Amino acid sequence: MISPKIQDAINAQINAEFWSAYLYLAMAMHFESEGLHGIANWFRIQFKEEQAHAEIFINYLLSRGGRVALAPIAEVPDSWESPLAAYEATLVHEQKVTSLINGIYALAEAEHDYATRGKLDWFVSEQVEEEETAQGLIDRLKLIGENGMALYMLDQELAARVYNVPAPLANA
Ligand code: MG
Repeated sequence: MISPKIQDAINAQINAEFWSAYLYLAMAMHFESEGLHGIANWFRIQFKEEQAHAEIFINYLLSRGGRVALAPIAEVPDSWESPLAAYEATLVHEQKVTSLINGIYALAEAEHDYATRGKLDWFVSEQVEEEETAQGLIDRLKLIGENGMALYMLDQELAARVYNVPAPLANA
């Protein structure tokens, strides 16, 4: 059985992951309408990954005999000034998610819930990757600046991104 404190924290995280999914779906829709279909594809995959993150937490809570509470998902923005602005917003958001994961990790330690702490290890590494990827795209978009051909080439590259089911879900 899981403690009520940990259960509440994981339920809050499930909502945060769905909010992330919603944010990236909104970004995908925005860039579809801007004609940047590769960037849109990248964000659509991000959307699927975030849904998978929520599902991993859902499955974990159920496996511990907990109750999943699906709260309303708050509204997300619907437009961004540029791809650079969207990836900057992505980085800021992922940094926030990292601090939320760290918060649950600290709570799990305080509650001596080592199963939850162990489950979070994958997310801790995943957040390093999320921040690194967003930062990498920010760096490239800054280099690209106003160069339309360079942006076109990046868009083509991001069109090739494919969705892979995150390991904890694939192995579930
Ligand atoms: Mg996530």
